[in-house]
Amino acid sequence: MLSTQEFIEACRDKGLNVTYQRILIFKVLSESQVHPTAEEIYKSVKEEYPSISLATVYKTLETLVEKDLIRKVNPLHDTARYDGDSARHHHMVCHYCGKLIDVHDQAFQNLPLPQHPDFEITGFRILFEGVCDDEACREKACRKSDGDEKKLTLCGK
Ligand SMILES: [Zn+2]
Ligand SMILES: [Zn+2]
Repeated sequence: MLSTQEFIEACRDKGLNVTYQRILIFKVLSESQVHPTAEEIYKSVKEEYPSISLATVYKTLETLVEKDLIRKVNPLHDTARYDGDSARHHHMVCHYCGKLIDVHDQAFQNLPLPQHPDFEITGFRILFEGVCDDEACREKACRKSDGDEKKLTLCGK
């Protein structure tokens, strides 16, 4: 995760103007643990910068993604979520509420990559799917797995 100072330097390195808006949006995103949507970021940024528009927040996020300063995470069938941590890591996503949890396990950094004659892999991100331990999510998952032979471990909780 970049500090604000490192972010400013990285912007300069990449030829991006360092604007108050960009810094503010990055700060809000990097302080968030939930991989927020553009709209959620907009709501927080607006508190400090009431005249900012949602379109500006979107555009800024997309610019930062393009320059590799932040990342876009696409969980299951959902709107784009943004990640202030541009270092490589993976995610777990809850099927029921869409919560994203970071996975920084080094074991996944050296997976054997598939070979394809028409494709060169430049990176990969793993999305583990499952159920978070929110009560509502657990209940739904356990109700769903009722008929299954293999019950989820968390259903005993
Ligand atoms: Zn959940
Ligand atoms: Zn993440």
